[in-house]
Amino acid sequence: MPFAQQALKNYNLPDAGGHFGVFGGRYIPETLMMPCEELTEAYRAAKQDAQFRAELDFHLKTFAGRPTPLYLAERMSQRYGYPIYLKREDLLHTGAHKINNALGQVLLASRLGKKRIVAETGAGQHGVAVATVCARFGLQGVIYMGSVDMERQAPNVGRMKLLGAEVRPVENGTKTLKDATSEAIRDWVTNVRDTFYIIGSVVGPHPYPMMVRDFQRVIGDETLCDLEKGDVHASHLVACVGGGSNAIGFFYPFLDSSTTLIGVEAGGEGDNSEHHAAALTRGKPGVLHGSHSYLLQTADGQVVEAHSISAGLDYPGVGPEHSYLFEQGRVTYHRVSDAEALAAARRLTMLEGILPALESAHAIAYLENLPREDVEGAVVICLSGRGDKDLQTYLSHV
Ligand SMILES: *Cc1c(COP(=O)(O)O)cnc(C)c1O
Repeated sequence: MPFAQQALKNYNLPDAGGHFGVFGGRYIPETLMMPCEELTEAYRAAKQDAQFRAELDFHLKTFAGRPTPLYLAERMSQRYGYPIYLKREDLLHTGAHKINNALGQVLLASRLGKKRIVAETGAGQHGVAVATVCARFGLQGVIYMGSVDMERQAPNVGRMKLLGAEVRPVENGTKTLKDATSEAIRDWVTNVRDTFYIIGSVVGPHPYPMMVRDFQRVIGDETLCDLEKGDVHASHLVACVGGGSNAIGFFYPFLDSSTTLIGVEAGGEGDNSEHHAAALTRGKPGVLHGSHSYLLQTADGQVVEAHSISAGLDYPGVGPEHSYLFEQGRVTYHRVSDAEALAAARRLTMLEGILPALESAHAIAYLENLPREDVEGAVVICLSGRGDKDLQTYLSHV
């Protein structure tokens, strides 16, 4: 599936300033204006360059393992009474969709002649993807990670180190992803001449939300192609939403179709608790990490810490394009609790022999709330990653 093959007929966002309606944009220090402009221009040129596209397609195929299968989950389909397909991003190298974006951005960094890569990571999945592509392309990788997360996600810290990356502990604030992101941005500002910042989701200042979406839309493009080949009508698409990159990549080619699009946020400990990560359905618009979007905040605008059993959904913000699609009503967003996600992971494992990432389990759990009579065709779920990394959590909840 060639990179970013076709433009959509009836959807053409963001605008030149990176706005999705009132969301997105660039809320950044003066010193980052030039680098963001440079990056936007470089990305535009790369996207139109057949050689760049061919190179990216080649690495996605031979290194990452694309295309991934669209799998008919027969026993799940029997249980729910409609055909259920899984888009198997869990089968990719490093175990999740994040490698799609890391490859795209590292090729862009090489094109710009940048020898040093910085990135943030929470659960460590994006950090591992970045450390992986840094090793593959011989670049220096510096990964910022909250010290609390480093303890919680020790195996991924080990992986990044084995891959030759430097993991820098962040001791500010809550010592988690939000603080690691701020620290990575600070590093980028300071070292911008030789340094490229690889953001892990559809967040941050323009062009990141657009660029990361474009690098992830291969998920949706392949899905659409396989559905057409098999003459299957997609009634619903379902994906989990942290920052929102697997979801928007999956949804994007369907935005101007009649398919119902469902994003699932982390409801954490449930609706009676303040411990959740539901930036859209329980947050308010504000500015975080260079972009205007929904986020979790106090009445006077202080960003609050998110909670989810799944580290990859544990972020107080969400990509600006999701904020736009939420307000437009084109995508519907729901919440699934920690407990519901755990139960869904168990069901998928027992029925299909597939152990999902806890993040992806949120999308699976939504099936429990989808009335059978609403489904006209097939339900397609993005299985964004595999569950090996969550083994400890699963085992401690059996
Ligand atoms: C990081 C991660 C997510 C959440 O990130 P998005 O940008 O929302 O896709 C979801 N699933 C898996 C497996 C992840 O590693």
